[in-house]
Amino acid sequence: MVISKSMEALVAGSSTIRKLFEEGLQLAAEVGAENVYDFSLGNPASPVPAKVTESIKDILAENPDSYVHGYMKNAGFDEVRANVAANLNKRFDMGYDAGDIVMTVGAAGAMNCIFRALIETDDEVIAFAPYFGEYRNYAANYGGKLVVVPPDMDNFDLNINELDALINPKTKCIIINNPNNPSGRIFPEETIKQLGAIIEKAEKRIGHPIYVLADEPYRELVYDNEVVPYIPSIIKNSIYIYSFSKTLSLPGERIGYMALSKKMDCYDEMINAMAVANRCLGYVNAPSLFQLVVSRCLDEGVDLDFYDRNRKLLYDKLTSLGFKVVKPQGAFYLLVKDPMEDEEEFVSLAKKHHIILVSTKSFGCPGYIRMAYCVDYEMIKRSIPAFEALAKECGL
Ligand code: PLP
Repeated sequence: MVISKSMEALVAGSSTIRKLFEEGLQLAAEVGAENVYDFSLGNPASPVPAKVTESIKDILAENPDSYVHGYMKNAGFDEVRANVAANLNKRFDMGYDAGDIVMTVGAAGAMNCIFRALIETDDEVIAFAPYFGEYRNYAANYGGKLVVVPPDMDNFDLNINELDALINPKTKCIIINNPNNPSGRIFPEETIKQLGAIIEKAEKRIGHPIYVLADEPYRELVYDNEVVPYIPSIIKNSIYIYSFSKTLSLPGERIGYMALSKKMDCYDEMINAMAVANRCLGYVNAPSLFQLVVSRCLDEGVDLDFYDRNRKLLYDKLTSLGFKVVKPQGAFYLLVKDPMEDEEEFVSLAKKHHIILVSTKSFGCPGYIRMAYCVDYEMIKRSIPAFEALAKECGL
């Protein structure tokens, strides 16, 4: 083996979700794409807002190539960062300025910069289950370890009662993903306030800041007028992480940002480190054209009804068939309780009916499967007879 031991382990355990997605493609080649119902990947099917496409054309027409495609500060274009800060201030009254914003290679890029800046070997990052599985890999990139708070299986809220016992001097960050992938739950303001109080006490005990990473790529994907609290306005040592992957349907463009508030502990040290991390991790800067594009599209969003009608159709249909479903409040994922007491078996059985589902074991929350409903409505309609047959085979 020429690759490192840690990489060897990653290759061996390579993402189950990606594997399922590839199996779905293989199945589609065999039985026809219209007969495969793939709910594996959070790849948004909702069209990109027209303003995004117009902006690309306008930016290319209006500006010299050296500006659109050139290097700029590692933190991003000043004018883009100023627009992002103004947009956040309009919504959350945080008093950000351009200097508080770092444009990043998606939310993933932001998290990697933060971990690069904070983590020494064996340091710990806490995540609440169910959590986005890549967090473990991002922490491991820098010798860090993901510590998982067990899920609240009753309400899928943050299980804050178990948090304090897991915090120790090695704890550097706590990740909160709201609205949540994979549960679709929104953690309410009251929970975030309680969380803040626990963290503040723990920081005094261990003698250093614990940074809360508010990972919010689904912030605007919210149904029934639910409200997503803005964590940095509640918890002082928070870093806001945003991505346009889901809310503008641009996951392949790799564009997002982080916002640091001047009120946080060690602000100067932190903000300087983020720009340097962007450079030394090899990102150098976030993609230049798409910085300029999102800067013109900060008030845009995909059509929420596109996902809401999928949510309603699936929730109503699966519930009526006897499946136990966690009703999503946001994002575009839905949890279904495994009716067979063995998720792998359930996933295999579903595959026999050409339905591609993902077990939530890799999200730290066994006993469920996740469905990504960021798909075409017609595909869901076509999948219904397959779900009816699956329910029957499960004895529902
Ligand atoms: N955080 C969560 C919870 C996600 O679900 C994802 C992507 O699916 C990411 C972060 C990474 O997002 P990005 O594409 O912006 O890197």
